[in-house]
Amino acid sequence: MVLMPEDIQRMIGKDAQRNNILAAKMVADIVKTTLGPRGMDKMLVSPTNDIVITNDGVTILEEMQIEHPAAKMMVEIAKTQETEVGDGTTTAVMIAGKLLENAEKLLDMKIHPTVITKGYRIAAEKSKQILNDIALRITKDDDDILRQIAITAMTGKGAEDSKELFADIILRAIKQIEINGKIDLKDIKIEKSKGDGIEDTELVSGIVLDKERVSPDMPVLVKNARIALLDFPLELKNPEIQTRISISSPEQLQGFIMQEEKSIKEIVDKVKFSGANVVFCQKGIDDFAQYLLSKDEIFACRRVARSDIEKLAKATGAKIVSSLSELTPFELGNAEVVEEVKHGEDVFVYVKGCQNPKALTILIHGGTEHVIDEVERAIKDGLGDVACALRSGLVVPGGGAVEMELTKRLREFSQGLSGREQLAVEEFANALEFIPSTLAENAGMDPIDVLTELKSRHDSGERNAGLNLFTNRIENVLEAKIIEPLKVKTQAISSASEVAIMILRIDDVIASTGKKGNMMSVNPMRSMSEEF
Ligand code: ADP
Ligand code: MG
Repeated sequence: MVLMPEDIQRMIGKDAQRNNILAAKMVADIVKTTLGPRGMDKMLVSPTNDIVITNDGVTILEEMQIEHPAAKMMVEIAKTQETEVGDGTTTAVMIAGKLLENAEKLLDMKIHPTVITKGYRIAAEKSKQILNDIALRITKDDDDILRQIAITAMTGKGAEDSKELFADIILRAIKQIEINGKIDLKDIKIEKSKGDGIEDTELVSGIVLDKERVSPDMPVLVKNARIALLDFPLELKNPEIQTRISISSPEQLQGFIMQEEKSIKEIVDKVKFSGANVVFCQKGIDDFAQYLLSKDEIFACRRVARSDIEKLAKATGAKIVSSLSELTPFELGNAEVVEEVKHGEDVFVYVKGCQNPKALTILIHGGTEHVIDEVERAIKDGLGDVACALRSGLVVPGGGAVEMELTKRLREFSQGLSGREQLAVEEFANALEFIPSTLAENAGMDPIDVLTELKSRHDSGERNAGLNLFTNRIENVLEAKIIEPLKVKTQAISSASEVAIMILRIDDVIASTGKKGNMMSVNPMRSMSEEF
């Protein structure tokens, strides 16, 4: 009897489980070498020969275009981690991989997957409690700690030499855009400029646009800018329906053109009378309007992206005006300076010196695109972590300390459970040791020595003992200021355990192969050689 078409691939029971676990483990292995400050980078080359060099877990996995269904679920963890927290992507994927690897041991011992998943669920729940117990409370005035959180997030990410500067920029930026304890990182614009070194990266108290002024006859620099944000075009509307105008004499044509010009002049006059000397227009500005604006020494940019217009509104206090009749002096925003600036080949418009801006720009400088992109990812990790720490006010020690303490307490907790679940909780605890052991391995230290010492220190009550990779010693990492937001860890553990549980529950994979071939193949070289 034939149930399904011939091109369906099916894997049942143990085969399906093993295959999925293998794929998940391979994904974890791929990102493993990038973990921590001494992790290595990866170079990813796309079919069109675009090169990405990165240390960032989620970027690596996204660029790799992974196909295996279980492996894709692992990539999803990294993405969730990235959107929820902005950092800890490698950690999350590694924990998920290890949870599955350890589950395989239990499967070998003939423990049923539902028992394992139950144990993992209990362990994940308990982990949250323990983490909340270990976490330390900080306030928004703990600048030193916040700066260290940014630095911990950025170490080992190509931002190494300037991380003090970046930490300072990150902290100032976040404090500036915070409104009543609410932080929306979208209010921090990141703009990139090739040329100069990364140490020239700057925080602009306003918005930097990747734009030029619309006409070279306009002033390059406007001081005491009064800024109008227009959401309508400075040109005559094209009639919506097809229109034909019959003109029978040259005078009529002249009259028609003059009428058009008159209408545009009225529009521009209205802008001028509002008192604006800078105009950012979301739509077009036609030639004649450009000419009139230039004559009045008004600086203007056209086709500015909506997202930028919104940021400009937050930065300058201007209101976005959507019809000419609404434009009054009260709708204008202010900035000390609006200026067109050239960096290498790129031209930018700076709107800076805004009073108490609620949106601002980090302008990253750097020698090559690859450097700039990696610095951008590092800064985003830093921003994510600092925002996270401020939102919850809870932080934990890094360098594997929190994972070791969690392992220890989970093991103690498992003693009170019944036989098989106890084994599962123990394996969950063991999986967390993967983080400190990999941090050590990536730094060229002996992972077994490091784990043994960490374990004995934690057993004797040193809950903040971790691996300090500035000194390559095991010490109180809280004192060494290696600090991370609690949320990075709770999110990593919860999404890792969710995915591990989901994968463990699968015992039947039915895949329609289509023409892509073997969807369930777990040979990474195959997908790499095909995709890169
Ligand atoms: P992820 O994508 O998971 O954030 P990272 O490559 O950023 O991966 O590495 C994060 C890990 O590196 C965390 O466990 C953090 O505690 C650790 N870490 C960061 N700085 C140090 C340091 N100076 N010494 C030891 N560990 C560190
Ligand atoms: Mg990180």
